[in-house]
Amino acid sequence: MRGLVVSADWKPKAGYQVTAEEEMSGRVRLANMVLHNPTLSVADRPDAQLSGEHDVLIRNVTSGICGSDLHMVTSDEDGYMDLPAPFRVPVALGHENSGQVVEVGSAVTRVRPGDLVAVEAQVECGTCRACLRGLTAACERLWDRGFTLDGGTATMSVAHERHCWPLTAVADRHGERKAYDIGALIEPSSVAYNGMVNRAGGFRPGDTVAVFGAGPIGLAAVGLANALGAGRVLALDPSASKREIASALGATETFDPTAGEAGQWLLDRTGGAGVDMALDATGAGRIVMPAIVPAIAVGGKIVSLGANMAPVEVDTIKLMFRAASIYFTLGHLGGGFPAVIALHAAGKLDLTKMITGRFALDDGVAAMERALKGQDAKILIHPHGVDAYPKAVSQ
Ligand SMILES: [Zn+2]
Ligand SMILES: [Zn+2]
Repeated sequence: MRGLVVSADWKPKAGYQVTAEEEMSGRVRLANMVLHNPTLSVADRPDAQLSGEHDVLIRNVTSGICGSDLHMVTSDEDGYMDLPAPFRVPVALGHENSGQVVEVGSAVTRVRPGDLVAVEAQVECGTCRACLRGLTAACERLWDRGFTLDGGTATMSVAHERHCWPLTAVADRHGERKAYDIGALIEPSSVAYNGMVNRAGGFRPGDTVAVFGAGPIGLAAVGLANALGAGRVLALDPSASKREIASALGATETFDPTAGEAGQWLLDRTGGAGVDMALDATGAGRIVMPAIVPAIAVGGKIVSLGANMAPVEVDTIKLMFRAASIYFTLGHLGGGFPAVIALHAAGKLDLTKMITGRFALDDGVAAMERALKGQDAKILIHPHGVDAYPKAVSQ
């Protein structure tokens, strides 16, 4: 099979202790400490195939490019991959994808050949402390399609049936073509859903929600806040085109944080009361947190969705006096997929407005080059071509 493949040289930095497990599996704990000179190409990978009775073989149709994909192809001044996460090379990237089931193992009951599915990329071990207390996205022995296993830009994927979520109800409402596109957006929106709902416990109907950052996860948070009953959704991003998409997804008002003081803007919008939930989807917590803290309401919740690569200072006494809380979340496993699929199937959420570009796999390198420019919200790669949207088949 073919895929958009990241390769790199294995060259551990001085002082990095390579474990026997890393040596044996090829899966490094921190790509930025071991993998040197990353390169990207459209290349062959070994064919995906069923190996267990619960396996599902999927023909991939759409695969979204995520911010973390960009860190796989950029490097630091010494030439090491920027990604500070587990990785294995070579690998076909893509961890936000939909496709059509081609073949299933003998014990599979959740899906049938012909079904449209969205695929969870994270593969939890099921036996570590995180898994046993239900926080599967924080699994201590996580494997991950698009990071350590071939992912959604490959023409085919294999996944355990528990990671395959039927899009049948979404296709019934929106048609197959749109259902495949929605399928590629389920992963990033599940990251937002897990933070807002499964970790932070949601907000009260009518509450005011602020979203910092209108990248895909921030935009998903805007759409979700709206769908989940926020009274007002205030979105902040320096990019005018992204603020426009935020408005289309239900932001009540938007603000360019480079044009004024973001915290003050939120206080002005709330009559000084502050916002009930503030989401940081920027990865720039050092800048965003000082704006959020003075603008959080009594009993408010701060949800950190972006990966901050440097320590962030928080003035905790202000949060203490307002009985406010901060929540962190990572990844999409743990309940986001079925909820976000159901909201799309019900017509309460339509995140396809964030799709700003699509490329065939053959143009995958150009797709990444465009994504690196940072102007797009969501770019999709179509492993079988931009017009390949197979019909659902009823068995
Ligand atoms: Zn991602
Ligand atoms: Zn685990």
